[in-house]
Amino acid sequence: MSPMNVETNRLFTDINKKYEEWHKATYYVKNLKAPQIKPPLDPTPEGLEKEIWVKASLLADGLRFDDSALEGICDVYREQSRWLFDWNISEHRYYLPEELLLPMDSVVQVRENSDSRWMCTVEDGAMVLKRDGKFVIECRHIPRPKYYSMEASPGIIMRRIAPKRGQDCLVLNYAPFCMYWTTDDGCQFCNIVPNMRWTKDDLQVTKRSFDQILKTTKAAFDEGCLKHILLTGGYLSKHKKKTGEEIDREDKMILDIIHAQQEALKRDDIPVNVIRTAPEDKDLKSIEEHKKKGAYSVAYNLEVWDPTLFKKYCPGKDKVQGRDHWLRALEVAAEVYGPGRVSTHFVTGFIEPEESLLEGIEWCSERGIGSIPLVWSPVKGTKYDGFRAPQAEWFVEMVKKIADIRLKHGVDAFEPAALPNDCYLCAMPSLIADELRLRRVKRELEEKKK
Ligand code: SF4
Repeated sequence: MSPMNVETNRLFTDINKKYEEWHKATYYVKNLKAPQIKPPLDPTPEGLEKEIWVKASLLADGLRFDDSALEGICDVYREQSRWLFDWNISEHRYYLPEELLLPMDSVVQVRENSDSRWMCTVEDGAMVLKRDGKFVIECRHIPRPKYYSMEASPGIIMRRIAPKRGQDCLVLNYAPFCMYWTTDDGCQFCNIVPNMRWTKDDLQVTKRSFDQILKTTKAAFDEGCLKHILLTGGYLSKHKKKTGEEIDREDKMILDIIHAQQEALKRDDIPVNVIRTAPEDKDLKSIEEHKKKGAYSVAYNLEVWDPTLFKKYCPGKDKVQGRDHWLRALEVAAEVYGPGRVSTHFVTGFIEPEESLLEGIEWCSERGIGSIPLVWSPVKGTKYDGFRAPQAEWFVEMVKKIADIRLKHGVDAFEPAALPNDCYLCAMPSLIADELRLRRVKRELEEKKK
């Protein structure tokens, strides 16, 4: 275990222990009302390799659901909250599972696609995934936590304030509207703003109060169904008051939420990762300030590495912060937060050629910055609706190359509070956590043989 992981385990021992107890009591007890909640199998290299391919296929191609596989959703099994984007492909049903679990615990984001070759159905009491009508693998549902139905305020259930992501992560979208869209400069692959319209304030409320956040965080952690937190959202521009004073709304929103969560957990150190746009202040002093006020780790998502493509496909980020400033912010954050707590995400399979993507991974890894390749989905609300992502095999090969570069520079999986998409229990839209887990399992087996 790296020194940094030891430190985190020490900081959050009580939270982790509670989660382990909750997991055992939930997954290992036979529940006739929720027959698709089952414990995982022990991981093997062959099993994980298969799961990585299945996950890549399901993310790239989407899947269909037979009604038998949707029974119990919103009741004993967890429903989709579309807490940031709507990742489903084409027309889809309103209530779907948020994710599916594969036998060895790989977690797959559900992207329903009515044209997919994949089908999820229940046969002889087991939930299975079939491709072109042939059995491929079993799968499982994730239990719906009790706090989902509790009220954060009269008439507002807690799922609408902060839902769960994967098996162990609380997620809160601090800004469902992204202000790059006000000048038509949103990232070209993104549907955050249409998603907000489609979900009609029902799956997620747009504005949450301090008290609602405090109560939801407390209830979720009291239940024990979580280990760490992810805050994310769209870009919020600065606001100039009549007095001339400038308010950084994104900063304020994030710090207010962290404060509410600190109050909820009654501690200053909380396991929270903040995914946000790069801070705009020229000297980047705000990064230090955020760390002091309780951000445990940060990600500033570059999305695209190549400068020309970045300008074209992330025009808001290019015009407001600029690529050079964005890179500098990542470097400063890596110095301020120390190793293993800073990361950036790339949208893979979208537009970037392999060479420039790998150049970006190299740049990050040389600086100890974690890089996360997200599996792109051609979603509604973008001009790529109706396009298709590359084949699963492309994503499988790409993630191996990315893991090779990360490991060459000693950038193995960060622990969950530092980088949720390195956590195989909750990293539903990416394969890197699974690939790094596979490498670890192989290393451990080699060690045993010695
Ligand atoms: S910054 Fe880009 S990816 Fe993020 S919400 Fe805004 S438009 Fe979407």
